[in-house]
Amino acid sequence: MLAAFTALVGAIFGGLWFAPRVIVALKWHQPIRLMSEPPPAHWAAIVRDRVPISKKLRSEDFERLLKLIQVFLAKKNIEGAGGFDVTEEAAITIAAQACLLLIWRNTGMYPGLRTIIVYPSATIPKMLDSSTGGFEESLSPIVGQSWGAGVVILSWDSADFGAFDPRDGKNVVLHEFAHQLDQETGEADGMPVGLPLSAVKPWAEVMEKHFRLLRAADRKGRKTVLDGYGATNYAEFFAVATEAFFEKPERLRHTKPDLYGLLTDFYGVDPADGMRGMGDGLGMEDE
Ligand SMILES: [Zn+2]
Repeated sequence: MLAAFTALVGAIFGGLWFAPRVIVALKWHQPIRLMSEPPPAHWAAIVRDRVPISKKLRSEDFERLLKLIQVFLAKKNIEGAGGFDVTEEAAITIAAQACLLLIWRNTGMYPGLRTIIVYPSATIPKMLDSSTGGFEESLSPIVGQSWGAGVVILSWDSADFGAFDPRDGKNVVLHEFAHQLDQETGEADGMPVGLPLSAVKPWAEVMEKHFRLLRAADRKGRKTVLDGYGATNYAEFFAVATEAFFEKPERLRHTKPDLYGLLTDFYGVDPADGMRGMGDGLGMEDE
């Protein structure tokens, strides 16, 4: 009886877990269609100036980044708020960082995302309260936020500074767009879409191990390569790990090689080894 009950619960909840992932995977697998016309020539200088991590890219990857930026800007609304005027430079700076996560992945262009709202600095946005249908102010100022409902919020000064220093392990745009990848499954749980079934178990085990280690370190006030904010929950852990992966890759590889290896497979690139593309990221194996 107990076994039958367990099987029934497993079928129901397994279905709930699995069904959105199948639906999203279909959307996610729609490949990005690059445009036939080349991106404007002056974009390359803007990306090199404003997003210095791009200087590590191999020339073919840099060209692909420019083409991804072109698609991103055509498909997503970037809106200023709080008096912020979205210049071309600002839009490209944000798009370049968001698209960095996609260069080596066979994936869609953030299929659930419609709008990026940019404030001049850390802000207290009004949030939609789904229970009342009204708007409520968030409790504290935020520098970025990723909503499952197709919206990313950024503060421009944090987005700009995050790009300006590519080695401090803090990058709000990489952080929020890692959340977007995570939320493509329908929930933010640190397990993004695109993992083949064979990778789900090792992913869960390694993430869990390092999440617990970070929690313990954070409780003792001990600093690690991962920002202590990642100890908040699995979703924040994945976003924080993504920041460290791109901005402190050598240290992450040295101190947490299994976590570094997972992220290398997932993003399809080895940032500690000259930003070498693996050519066969997890997303590509999943076809
Ligand atoms: Zn976060």
